[in-house]
Amino acid sequence: MRELEAHPELLSLNAATVRAQWGHAELVEGCKRHGISAIATWRDKVAETGVEKAAKLVRDAGLKVSGHCRGGMFPAADAAGRRTALEDNRRAVDEAAALGARSLILVAGGLPPGSKDLAGAQTQVEEGIAALLEYARKVRVDLAIEPLHPMYAADRACVNTLKHANDLCDRLAPGPNSGLGVALDVYHLWWDPALEAEIARAGRTAGRIMGFHVCDWLVPTNDLLLDRGMMGDGAIDIPKIRSWVEAAGYAGPIEAEIFSARNWWKRDPDEVLAVCKERFRTVC
Ligand code: ZN
Repeated sequence: MRELEAHPELLSLNAATVRAQWGHAELVEGCKRHGISAIATWRDKVAETGVEKAAKLVRDAGLKVSGHCRGGMFPAADAAGRRTALEDNRRAVDEAAALGARSLILVAGGLPPGSKDLAGAQTQVEEGIAALLEYARKVRVDLAIEPLHPMYAADRACVNTLKHANDLCDRLAPGPNSGLGVALDVYHLWWDPALEAEIARAGRTAGRIMGFHVCDWLVPTNDLLLDRGMMGDGAIDIPKIRSWVEAAGYAGPIEAEIFSARNWWKRDPDEVLAVCKERFRTVC
């Protein structure tokens, strides 16, 4: 297994982990200070700085961008809404290109307001990804579908298993290095009995596994969105899942992505980064 000391490029810090404390420029500075060589960016933070300036800060600091968060949110109540979503996604692809991101992370989107048509929303997601993929290939930005935990099916993402994401890739862009792949987040996927098999399945197509995100599942979890745990503080066997991901051929950065309004967002961000590095060494 790759160790952080010998492979400092291994750890990426997702901007969400310190989003309450830091803007983009502070994140870049902080990662430099802590010897963290990759980040994952968020659209709102990049927009505050301005895309060009944000990209320059990243380049000047010599940082890699493991992913740009996030595109997706495809389903809408009508055709105009779907067009608006697609246009916004194209802008997200352009941002990812400017930032030099490994991929644009796609969170599928849930049901349109008032709708109970889950299958219909899933069809809209598939059509949206297909349309965006054409554009992303021209701009040479990879699209990474991130399945979210099923508790978000109604409001955030109706792609909830790695099997579903793999099926989408097989239907829309089969074959190696197709520009469409998956981002694996232990928080969303750890409970799935099919996870090991589906990670192996993803690994059989070169270039499909585009990202690997870590945090932990707290017991109890007190908020559906903003109560993720630091690695090691919860119920997820991260080394086991990491071993499956690396056995499937993934050799990219591992992203610490912790939405924690109750705890880590209230702390000194330098402490948060230090603990991330320490936990990465000891429990990941
Ligand atoms: Zn994630």
